[in-house]
Amino acid sequence: MKLSVIPTTVRTTCPYCGVGCGVLARPDGRGGAITTGDPDHPANSGRLCSKGFALEETLGLNGRLLHPMLRRADSSYAKVDWDTALAAVADGFRKIIDRDGPGVNLEEARYETPYAVDAPADREQKAKLGALSPDDVTATELAGEAITAKLTEAPGNGAKIGGLKVTTESAWFAARPSGTEDVYKIYAESFRGPDHLAEVQEAARDVVSAALG
Ligand code: SF4
Repeated sequence: MKLSVIPTTVRTTCPYCGVGCGVLARPDGRGGAITTGDPDHPANSGRLCSKGFALEETLGLNGRLLHPMLRRADSSYAKVDWDTALAAVADGFRKIIDRDGPGVNLEEARYETPYAVDAPADREQKAKLGALSPDDVTATELAGEAITAKLTEAPGNGAKIGGLKVTTESAWFAARPSGTEDVYKIYAESFRGPDHLAEVQEAARDVVSAALG
């Protein structure tokens, strides 16, 4: 008789950059895993940046980006060929250089959040955040911009994300409850820069607080 093996949490490492953040991966029994930051790892003490946060969404092909896509004005995406995609990237770089001059640091111009920020939440609030539906989110704006999407499921496979993701034309944030602390974590990105990112992080707290009631 073949005995089934109960999946256990595996300590591993985020593969994306040289920081080497520690990750806990718990198999979900469906071929994927739930991943969280490893609180005992010296590189990140349980925290993950927006790329590490999305690790569990990259364990299968469902919902993966398998060809170039361009975002339309209404935030939907259109499949395009590589020439079109590369021309759009070059055009974006050209606009930044025209705006900020030839000495601009393009990596800084496309600013990324280094780490998530925390917001306090008790056990009940964390449970509520993990079970939110888009209808629970009453906000229509985030940092002065109209909200274009409120997601509690992954668009690719409909899997619950265990929290909330909100997008606007030039920013997004995701909020998920911590499994170990009395906080929820806000992962955010601004396509405008650090000042706008700070506004988005602040506004994200208000959006989540209103949704939690
Ligand atoms: S979580 Fe972010 S900072 Fe940490 S290793 Fe992964 S990509 Fe690098």
